[in-house]
Amino acid sequence: AKIENIRNFSIIAHIDHGKSTLADRILEITGMVSDREKKDQYLDKMELEQERGITIKAQTVRIPYKAADGKEYILNLIDTPGHVDFSYEVSRSLAASEGALLVVDSTQGVEAQTLANVFLALDHDLEIVPVLNKVDLPSTDCERVAQEIEEVIGLDCSDPLMISAKTGLNVEAVIESIVTDLPPPEGDPDAPLKALIFDSWYDSYQGVVVLFRILDGTIKKGDKIQIFSSKREFDVTTLGVYTPEPQKTAMLAAGEVGFLCASMKELNDAPVGDTITLAVDPVKDPFPGFKEVKPMVFCGLYPVEPAEYEPLKGALEKLQLNDTAFSYEPETSTALGFGFRCGFLGLLHMEIIQERLEREFQAKLIATAPSVVYQAKLNNGEVLEIDNPSKMPEAGDLEALAEPYCRLEIHVPNDYVGAVLKLCEEKRGIQQDMRYLTSSRVIITYEVPFAEIMYDFFDKLKSQTKGYASLDYEVIDYRESNLVKLDILINTDPVDAFSAIVHKESAYPFGRSLALKLKRAIPRQMFEIVIQAAIGRKIIAKERVAPFRKNVTAKCYGGDISRKRKLLEKQKEGKKRMKKMGNVEIPQEAFMAVLKAG
Ligand code: GDP
Ligand code: MG
Repeated sequence: AKIENIRNFSIIAHIDHGKSTLADRILEITGMVSDREKKDQYLDKMELEQERGITIKAQTVRIPYKAADGKEYILNLIDTPGHVDFSYEVSRSLAASEGALLVVDSTQGVEAQTLANVFLALDHDLEIVPVLNKVDLPSTDCERVAQEIEEVIGLDCSDPLMISAKTGLNVEAVIESIVTDLPPPEGDPDAPLKALIFDSWYDSYQGVVVLFRILDGTIKKGDKIQIFSSKREFDVTTLGVYTPEPQKTAMLAAGEVGFLCASMKELNDAPVGDTITLAVDPVKDPFPGFKEVKPMVFCGLYPVEPAEYEPLKGALEKLQLNDTAFSYEPETSTALGFGFRCGFLGLLHMEIIQERLEREFQAKLIATAPSVVYQAKLNNGEVLEIDNPSKMPEAGDLEALAEPYCRLEIHVPNDYVGAVLKLCEEKRGIQQDMRYLTSSRVIITYEVPFAEIMYDFFDKLKSQTKGYASLDYEVIDYRESNLVKLDILINTDPVDAFSAIVHKESAYPFGRSLALKLKRAIPRQMFEIVIQAAIGRKIIAKERVAPFRKNVTAKCYGGDISRKRKLLEKQKEGKKRMKKMGNVEIPQEAFMAVLKAG
C-alpha cells in the first residue's frame, strides 16, 4: 500500500462507552466479518473477555477500504483494552498509531478514563477525532457532551460525529473521517528498517508472535532481522497481517502494521517496546522503549492437593509467556505448604489470572488475600521490599515502613461530592484538588494509600454515587506510614497466610473484625477452635468456634445409607477447597476474610 493511503488508528474510550461495539460495527460495514462469523464483540476473542465484557489484550485488524474519494485505503485498527489495570497496553497501541477515535457516551459525558486516555494519546502526538455514541438512547445529550469535550479536553467539537455503534447509525461517516481527518504515517520505505514491537505473545504452534509497526524501511519473509537491544538475529519465517484472521504476506513497508514469527522461543527474544531492524543494515537510533510495568498487587496461590504443585507451576509458566506483567515465584507457607507468590497489576488482573488458571488449566487453588508491596527500612540501613505480610522483619530490626500511594482522580456530579469526600477521608486520603468540570460535574483529586483502595473502593464509590462516579488512578510514590503486622493464631498456632499489614489506628477494629469473619468462615469441627488476633505478643481479639454437639454428628451418621453417601460426597466436595492447618480444616473463603475485615 502507498504510505499516504494508510491510516493507523486506535479507539479510546472510558469503559462501557462503546469502543468494542464501534470496532465490531466498523469491521462489519467494511465487510471484514461475514454474517456467519458475526457475533457481538468480534475483537474480544478470549472467552473471559466476552463474559466480562471487557477488552484485555490489544488486537489489530487490517481493513481495506474504498473511500468516498474513490481511492483504496488500508485502515489498521489497533484495539486497546478498556480498564485502568491495563493502561500500559493502551499506551503501546497508541505508540503504533497516528490517530485515535475518542468515543464518548452521549448519555454520560467525559469520564475519568476518557481524560486519562486522551492524555496518553497526546503523549504520543496523536490526532484525535471525537465521536459521540449512543444517540439512539432517549437520554442522549450531544450538545452538553460536545461542550464538555471542548471545555475539558480542548478538542474542537463544533461539528461532532453523532453515532449509534449499536444500530450502525452514522458509523460509515466515522470510517470516512478516519480517512479524511486522521493523518497518514510518515516514513521512508527505502531507509534502513526500523520497526516498533508493540505486542508479542506465545503461540504453542508458532512460538513467539511479534506484532510490529514499521516506521522506516521494508521487511520481507526470509529477512535476517536484528532485535536492537540484544543484537540477536533471527530469520523471518512468517510475515503477515490480521484480517482479523492471520493472512500471510511476502513484504511489508514503512507505515504498515503486521506480525512476524522468527523461531523465537521466549517473549524476551522480542521485548515489547524494542526495535526490529535488519542485520545487514541496522538502524542507528532505536525507539526509546516503553516504561517497564511492575506488578503492584501480590497474593499467594497454593494447590489444594500437594500433588498439583508441578501442574500448577506448568500452568503459571504458560500464562506468563503471554503476560509479562504477571510474575510468580515459589514460596512456602507453614500453613499452606508449597505454592507461589504471584504479582499482578491490580485486582482485576489478579481475578482474571486466577480464573484463567482454573478454567484453562483446571487448577484447584487456594488464594491468599492480596497485598500491596511494602518497603521495610531496617536499622542497618537496608531496604526490603515486602510482598507478603508474613515476611515482615521483626519489630526490633525495623526502622520504618513505607507503603505505596496513588493519585486518584474521581469525576462525579456535584450532588455526590460530599459522599466522595467522606469515602476518601475514611481511606486515609489527602485531598489535592477539587474543580468544576462543568457547572454540575466535579473532578476531585486525592492521594490515598494504594492498600486502602485496592479492594472495595471502586464498589463503594459506585454504590455511594449511584454509579455516577468514575475513577482513574496511578501509583505515584512510597510514603512512611504507621503500620503494624497483625497475626492470626488458630488454637494458638500462628497461621502465616492470615497475616496482614494494617495501619496502626485501625489495627484493633481490624483485628476484631477479622477474628469474627474467620469465626463465621470456619465450619464447626469435632473440637473447639480458638481464633486470636495478635500484634506482636499482644492478643487483641479472640473468638471461638464451638464444636459439634455429639448428638448432631450421631444423627448425621445414623441415617439411611443413601443419605449417608450424599453427606460424605458433600463433605468431599467441600474438602476440595479446604486446607488442614494442624488438625483444623480451613475453607478458601477464610483466606479472603482478611480483605473484608478492612
Ligand atoms: P467498551 O467498554 O467501550 O468496549 O464498551 P462496549 O462496546 O462493550 O459497550 C458497552 C455497552 O454499551 C454494551 O452493552 C453495548 O451493547 C452498549 N452500547 C454500545 N454502543 C451503543 C449504542 O450506540 N447504543 C446503545 N443503546 N448501546 C450501546
Ligand atoms: Mg470493550
